[in-house]
Amino acid sequence: MAQIIDGKAISSQIKEELKTKVGALKAQGVEITLAVILVGEDPASQVYVRNKKKACEYIGIRSLSYELEETATERQLLELIEQLNRREDVNGILVQLPLPKHMEEQKVIRAIDPKKDVDGFHPQSVGALSIGLPGFVSCTPAGVIQLLKRSAIPIEGKRCVVVGRSNIVGKPMALLMLRENATVTIAHSKTADLPSLTRQADILIAAVGKPKMITAEYIKEGAVVIDVGIHRDAANKLCGDVDFASVEPLCSAITPVPGGVGPMTIAMLMYNCVESVKIQEK
Ligand code: NDP
Repeated sequence: MAQIIDGKAISSQIKEELKTKVGALKAQGVEITLAVILVGEDPASQVYVRNKKKACEYIGIRSLSYELEETATERQLLELIEQLNRREDVNGILVQLPLPKHMEEQKVIRAIDPKKDVDGFHPQSVGALSIGLPGFVSCTPAGVIQLLKRSAIPIEGKRCVVVGRSNIVGKPMALLMLRENATVTIAHSKTADLPSLTRQADILIAAVGKPKMITAEYIKEGAVVIDVGIHRDAANKLCGDVDFASVEPLCSAITPVPGGVGPMTIAMLMYNCVESVKIQEK
C-alpha cells in the first residue's frame, strides 16, 4: 500500500513552526504585515483571500485588506501597489489572481516591489530561482518540496517528470526539483506519447489542470506521485489531476486530494511572509 502524504499534517507543522518564529520576532519588536488586494467579487477568490487572512491571524501576522470594485481601473490598482511598496510597515503584497479582464496581470505583478513579492510571481523572483539566488519562491511548488522532504522521500538523483509548464506551478516546480538535484523533464499539451514518458518517472508531479487525467497507464510501479490539481468531479466531490483509485495501488507514495498539496500553498505563503523580513534586511 502506498504511503499517503499528509499535507494537512505537514502544513500544520509548518504553521506551528512559523507561529513560534513570529512570536520570537515580535518579542524583538518586529511585526510582519501582509497586504492582500482583491479586485472584484469572484467567489473562489473571496474564499482564498479569507483563508489567507485567517492563516495570518493564526500565525500572528498582521493582514491589511484592500477590496477594489470589479470596475476599478488598472491605474487605481497600480497606484495602490505603489503606495504599499513605499510603506515601510508593509512586508508582503499579494494581489489575488485572476484579475478582471481589463487588467494586464503581468503588468500588475511587475509593479510589486520584488522584495515584497510573497507570491513569488515577479520576473525577478523567477529569475533568482532559475540562477540559484535567494528570493521568494512560488508557494505551491515550494509546498511540494516540503511535502517530499518532510515525508523523507529522496529527490537527489531521481528522475522527475512535471506535467504542466505554467508560470505559477509547472516551471517553478521543475526548477525547484532541479535545485534538489533531480533529473527533470517537463511535459505539456504538445508532448508526444505522454504515458511512455511519465512511466520513466521516479517522481511524477501532475499540474495539468485536467480532472483524473493521470491514470494507472502513466505510472511506473513504485513511483512517488504528487497531485497538484484541484477540481470538482461530476458528483461535486473534490478530485485532482490523478485518478487516485487506479494509481494508488501502483505507487510507493501519493498525495490525496483534498489534503495533499492544497493546504501547503497557504502554509508556504506564510513562510514567505516570515522570510520577507530577512529579504528586506539585505
Ligand atoms: P494551467 O492551466 O495554467 O497549466 C496547465 C498545464 O498543463 C499547461 O502547461 C498545459 O500545457 C498542460 N496540459 C494541459 N493539458 C495537457 C495534456 N493533455 N497533456 C499534457 N499536458 C497538458 O494550470 P496551473 O498550472 O495553474 O494549475 C494546474 C492545476 O493545479 C490545476 O488543476 C489547478 O487548479 C491546480 N492548482 C492548485 C493549487 C494548489 O494550491 N493546490 C495552486 C495552483 C494551481 P500547455 O502549456 O501546452 O498548454
